[in-house]
Amino acid sequence: MTEKKSMPEAGWRFDNSYSVLPELAYTKQSPTPVQAPRLVVFNGPLAASLGLNAGALRSDEGAAVLAGNHIPEGAEPLAQAYAGHQFGHFTMLGDGRALLLGEHMTPQGQRFDIQLKGAGRTPYSRGGDGRAALGPMLREYIISEAMHGLGIPTTRSLAVTATGEPVYRETELPGAILTRVAASHLRVGTFQFMSRWGTDEQLRALADYTLQRHFPNAQAAGQPYLSLLREVIQRQVQLIAKWQLVGFIHGVMNTDNMALSGETIDYGPCAFMDAYDPAAVFSSIDAQGRYAYGNQPRIAAWNLARFAEALLPLLHDDEDQAVQLAEGALADFVQLYHGHWFTGMRAKLGLFNEEPEDVGLIEQLLGMMQKHRADYTNTFRALTFNKPEETVMFGAAEFARWQEQWKARQSRQPMPHEQVQQLMQRSNPAVIPRNHRVEEALKAAVEQEDYTVMERLVDILSRPYDHDAEQEAYCTPPEPSAQPYRTFCGT
Ligand code: AMP
Ligand code: MG
Repeated sequence: MTEKKSMPEAGWRFDNSYSVLPELAYTKQSPTPVQAPRLVVFNGPLAASLGLNAGALRSDEGAAVLAGNHIPEGAEPLAQAYAGHQFGHFTMLGDGRALLLGEHMTPQGQRFDIQLKGAGRTPYSRGGDGRAALGPMLREYIISEAMHGLGIPTTRSLAVTATGEPVYRETELPGAILTRVAASHLRVGTFQFMSRWGTDEQLRALADYTLQRHFPNAQAAGQPYLSLLREVIQRQVQLIAKWQLVGFIHGVMNTDNMALSGETIDYGPCAFMDAYDPAAVFSSIDAQGRYAYGNQPRIAAWNLARFAEALLPLLHDDEDQAVQLAEGALADFVQLYHGHWFTGMRAKLGLFNEEPEDVGLIEQLLGMMQKHRADYTNTFRALTFNKPEETVMFGAAEFARWQEQWKARQSRQPMPHEQVQQLMQRSNPAVIPRNHRVEEALKAAVEQEDYTVMERLVDILSRPYDHDAEQEAYCTPPEPSAQPYRTFCGT
């Protein structure tokens, strides 16, 4: 049994609203203590924004809480139940190696889930050990914080705590626990779970809870559950458009990895694209390319259809009418997505207003980038600073023609050059978490216990739109290699 111990000086203020849901939705479960907790990475700015005391959390007592060895006052740990379509196949899942410690209330009254990922077995662990390896937890820390820096909604990482225990994968690896902070862990899969195994009343309780937690304004609407569907669609559309605009590939967009809050969640085999390629895939388990870069919007729409299906009993008593309402909401996806993507792409090209030929202008550029395997991030960076790269694409006659058209298009808007440049700077990051840089940081940390490489990378990635000299070394794409970069699920 883990011992209850109060640590008021850390600033935890736990509330446990999730446990008002039907008991079917979770299992109360304490973390399994670990041998030798040691904090290896800690997010000071995030702690401060949550009203937590970094000094107290960095102490041995603080690390014991972040490792699950001590449960702080007010926390009532639980494992959440959920289901999900994994690569298109429906399965019962649930928190197999993560535990919700509780919901922390910030001094400003905001509610955040505090989750320990890798905290031990739960009733949903199936064959798994409930643990996580250090490398993948550090990887989630780096990429989630990079996403935050890029202005993309995401769960965040408060700390990584080494457990002092090995985990056994293909080899023996050091174990660790990630402290994940999220608006909530409600997923499409949470609704799929309740729709499959709960009653309509239990499903309604889950929907009411979700509305209250994330969409309080929609709750007052005439058709609150239809509003819930529409709001979730909106958030997903905005999120996926942002991913596409920075070249982020999630890698495992199963319905259980899709948060209803609209935050990016579950950084397993994700990676950023270097050369522009709609077919780009990094995940070793995605042989068919289901979750390829260019497929992400389509997959999001597919996942939202699964969400709509789960909601059907709440949308209308008459099934046909419920289906009609759901289809009506889902039909908006394409147009909504195109709108967000198009606005974002125009901003990347320094265009404030809209002209009919803009889509063509964007598509021509992307077509050239694909043909010449141009680096996605650096192409936009070069355009921002009007510094052509020494690449085949920038030297091509068709590029020169395109650039002329683009410049002419820019000059048809009334904004001065300075303003155009500013728009481009804040729409085109200088740095993304390049795969070789992430690997370099992980290697130093895991193999040499040298965390300075990672700390510097995280710092650089926290301000990607600064475009300063310090970032220069982090802008270089990896050397072309014989082996394509491969990512693995974060187990
Ligand atoms: P993920 O691929 O991380 O989204 O996980 C998919 C499912 O597998 C979730 O239900 C996880 O809780 C579960 N899972 C992943 N790794 C482990 C593990 N080491 N032990 C138990 N369950 C796990
Ligand atoms: Mg998951």
